Amino acid sequence: MSLDDLYQEIILEHYRRPRNSRPLDDVVARVHENPACGDAIKLLVEVDDNGQVGLAFDGKGCAISISSASMMTELVKGRTVGEAEALIDRFVRAMRGEIPSEVLDELGELASLKGVRKYPVRVKCATLAWHALAEMLRNGFRPSGNQVG
Ligand code: ZN
Repeated sequence: MSLDDLYQEIILEHYRRPRNSRPLDDVVARVHENPACGDAIKLLVEVDDNGQVGLAFDGKGCAISISSASMMTELVKGRTVGEAEALIDRFVRAMRGEIPSEVLDELGELASLKGVRKYPVRVKCATLAWHALAEMLRNGFRPSGNQVG
C-alpha cells in the first residue's frame, strides 16, 4: 500500500464513521457553509471546569470536509482554548501553503489531507470546520447571534 493509498483510506474511514458526530440543534450550532462544494458543518463547543475543550459536530458534505472535521474533533478535544487556537492556526496555514506541509505530519491523521493542498477549492473543504471552530472560540463558544442555555 502506497502512502497515498493509506491517506485515502484514512480519509474515507473518517467519512464513513465520523468521530464526535451527532445531530445538533441549530440553536447551539450555527451552520458554516462552503458554497463551492455544498459542505455544511454545525459545531458544538463547550469548555469544562478544567478548561478542556469539548466538541461535537453535525456535517453534510464531501469526504474531505467531513473527514477533516472528524479528525479535528479528535485532535482538539481535551485541549485548552489556547492550544486549540494554535492547532487551528498551524493546520489552516499549512493547508494554504503558508508554512511547510511537514507541519501536518505533527498533527496525526490530518497528514492524510496533505494532497488536498494542490487543489485550492478543496482546501476550503478541508478548512471549513476549522474556521467554524476558530469563530466559535472567538465568540465565547457560541455561534454569533445565539445564546446557549
Ligand atoms: Zn467539499
